[in-house]
Amino acid sequence: MYPRLEIDIKKIKENISFLSNKLNNNDLDLILVTKSFCALTEVLKELEDTNIKYIADSRISNLKKNKDINKEKILIRIPMLSEVEDVIKYSDISFNSELKTVLKLNEEAKNFNVVHKIVLMVDLGDLREGYINIDELYKVIEIIKTLKNIKLIGLATNLTCYGGVLPTNENLNRLMDIKIKAQSIYEAKLDFLSGGNSSSLYLIENHEIPKGITNLRLGESVLLGVSTADMNFIDGMNHDVFKLQAEIIEIKEKPSIPIGEIGFAAFGVKPTFEDRGIRKRAILAIGKQDVNIDSIVPCENSLKILGGSSDHMIIDITDSMKNYKIGDIIDFNLNYSSLLMLSTSEYVYKKIKK
Ligand SMILES: *Cc1c(COP(=O)(O)O)cnc(C)c1O
Repeated sequence: MYPRLEIDIKKIKENISFLSNKLNNNDLDLILVTKSFCALTEVLKELEDTNIKYIADSRISNLKKNKDINKEKILIRIPMLSEVEDVIKYSDISFNSELKTVLKLNEEAKNFNVVHKIVLMVDLGDLREGYINIDELYKVIEIIKTLKNIKLIGLATNLTCYGGVLPTNENLNRLMDIKIKAQSIYEAKLDFLSGGNSSSLYLIENHEIPKGITNLRLGESVLLGVSTADMNFIDGMNHDVFKLQAEIIEIKEKPSIPIGEIGFAAFGVKPTFEDRGIRKRAILAIGKQDVNIDSIVPCENSLKILGGSSDHMIIDITDSMKNYKIGDIIDFNLNYSSLLMLSTSEYVYKKIKK
């Protein structure tokens, strides 16, 4: 069935082992962030025998559907008040930055007679989630100390998301300082110190990751082999774990400039064209409802994407050495945004390659 997202399990496993070795050598755990492939259960089942301890996702529904996967589960988007029951039921640890939500988690955990583990978010300057006023953080910890069904296990920070602020030895050391004071207020050790996402990897290369950070939360780097501090491919990793495959439904030779007065094309944009004469074009059965067509690249580099609408994509196949026919399949490489969209689209079939 097409269009489909093909997921190469062997390549994901190689990437996990590549990065988990690197992290483990620096006393760091690798937390696998699964949101970009919607935490597909078929994939996670294949990864159960890897040495990663934790999986993390921003959506509780993704953790819920994987409740039988034998890994510790972390909710990394701070919970909605309206979902705290599911947070207690389906996550072992949740990231938090609002006392009101933590109090509700405590109530709900009491109802289920469990102790729920939380991590507090510290904003080191990127200005997405977390405490930026550290005195407020300390006051909140005093209150959390009195909650019977909540256990604070540590602190985390998230960078390079809203503000594009890079993790550095300096800002992560600030997190370590905050931890020391937080521990003395909480009167217990905080063992979970999460030093960011894929953009923190470069600090390991540079031997600049502060001692005492205990884990990184990695999505894009594991799945696409990209170091997101500079968006470079990481040598030694697979960059083609995921592939889009779409089917040709029409092949015709057509002029490169539309015939007639030009108004607006699909999505209200005014198109422009370059006259390259008569070209051989293929229409693929996939469109902008499934994927942002600017963020996919044909694996065969003589092919060129000309454009598309909701459910059609047109590519120029004139320069290909292959003699394409109707029903043939074209492969594309993906970046993070196309991976997200294709994973989310129910029109895109997911094919596990073992
Ligand atoms: C998405 C996300 C991550 C993973 O980010 P990558 O850049 O894909 O490694 C980590 N932490 C949080 C809080 C996130 O939202």
